[in-house]
Amino acid sequence: MIDLKNLTIEKAHQSLSKGEYTVTELVNAYLEVIKEKNKEINAYLEIYNDIDNQIKKAEEMFKNGTATILTGIPMAVKDNILVKGHIASASSKILSNYKATYDSFVIKKLKIQCPIFIGRTNMDEFAMGSSTETSAYGVTRNPIDTTRVPGGSSGGSAAAVASDMALVALGTETCGSIRQPASFCGLVGLKPTYGAVSRSGIIAMGSSLDQVGTLGKTVDDVEILFNAINGYDPKDSTSVPDIQRESIGKKINKKIGIPRGFLKGEGIDKEVLENFEESCKKLKKAGYEVVDVELPSIGYSLAVYYIIMPAEVSSNLARYDGMRYGLSDDASKIFDVYAKSRGLGFGKEVRRRILLGTYILSHGYYDAYYNTAVKVRQIIKNELLAFFNDFDAFITPTVPFPPFKLGEKLNDPMAMYLSDIFSAPANLADLSSLSVPAGKTKDGLPLGLQFTAPYLREDILFTIGKDFEKLV
Ligand code: GLN
Repeated sequence: MIDLKNLTIEKAHQSLSKGEYTVTELVNAYLEVIKEKNKEINAYLEIYNDIDNQIKKAEEMFKNGTATILTGIPMAVKDNILVKGHIASASSKILSNYKATYDSFVIKKLKIQCPIFIGRTNMDEFAMGSSTETSAYGVTRNPIDTTRVPGGSSGGSAAAVASDMALVALGTETCGSIRQPASFCGLVGLKPTYGAVSRSGIIAMGSSLDQVGTLGKTVDDVEILFNAINGYDPKDSTSVPDIQRESIGKKINKKIGIPRGFLKGEGIDKEVLENFEESCKKLKKAGYEVVDVELPSIGYSLAVYYIIMPAEVSSNLARYDGMRYGLSDDASKIFDVYAKSRGLGFGKEVRRRILLGTYILSHGYYDAYYNTAVKVRQIIKNELLAFFNDFDAFITPTVPFPPFKLGEKLNDPMAMYLSDIFSAPANLADLSSLSVPAGKTKDGLPLGLQFTAPYLREDILFTIGKDFEKLV
């Protein structure tokens, strides 16, 4: 029996290298769990039909001595990441039959090492949501308490790792979609610097915010997977050139800021705040200087996000017109094809955001909403840039409340959107941010601590994250 609960990439790699078990045995152990649990959890929408082929290639690499750290490692893939020959639906009806004709950059890069892509995971439709309840293919349940949500939008990826249906997973973030489900499922989740990982082959939501990232049980696993997927890609105009990455200094001063004012908002759970104070104390004990700071602008992040994101959503999703991709409904006039296909294919939350975004960008409102939000975004960026002159990171809880019940916030969009309050600054300011498990509530629900670091300084997150991991 392989101890999947305590398995890490490094341990699995050691065992596979020494021949303690084969890739087939490792993958079968995960497939057994999937058989037993996926029906209830609904983490995976599909188990890929080419796993045997993938295993063969990975075993070949172990035989001929070319295996690397990720060879044979079972991995889950969010349903908005293109894997050639497989459906990628973004958990929407409108893409239910869309088969990827090419590999996304991240998949192409990973394939060199031959990990095992187990299948595609459920998500909020087009990554819009914080609970994986807006998927057209049913909700995903939190493996720690199946009456609760796993977070979102990468809820399927998080639930897969948390229930030992995959060792690690790929997710995407536009605002919190990796860190929030990681926090809700007791995992580590990384949202990399904007431009660190290519968005080529990722189904777009908000293009100035979208980023691929990683989920795992340990900081080490998340780092290993990040190292494998980041890098320059000429196919993404926002991809950071390698030379720019190398020129970044690697000094750490062990100085962390607590944006005190930001933690005083309404709707922040008492237990979350108590846990946060405990975490701060632990970091101080570990030799970090942890001090209160004033970052007045980041309090506007959520409002800014909910203007910029729907604007970008409405323009990105205009491409789903029933003509080029996926679902198409018949009508005699072209406008009716658009209207009927989009009406049938998009769920309620997606429609809400398209409407909001179209309004925000409309003549007469563009300046008042979109342009103003873009200006405030720049103020937030500048404020954080100045802050990072003296500090390595700022910390907050990852989410203002513990995992909530299924259905609890689904019909109250404002309550749902509040989930993203602590996530938004990193996405708006292009920064990397990491959520690490920080303990549990009295009822045993997982809580997370979030570190946000300067541009391209994922190394800081991994260092602090590993130090913090040992203290919990
Ligand atoms: N909760 C965020 C939203 O609903 C999630 C966006 C994301 O990161 N994909 O917009």
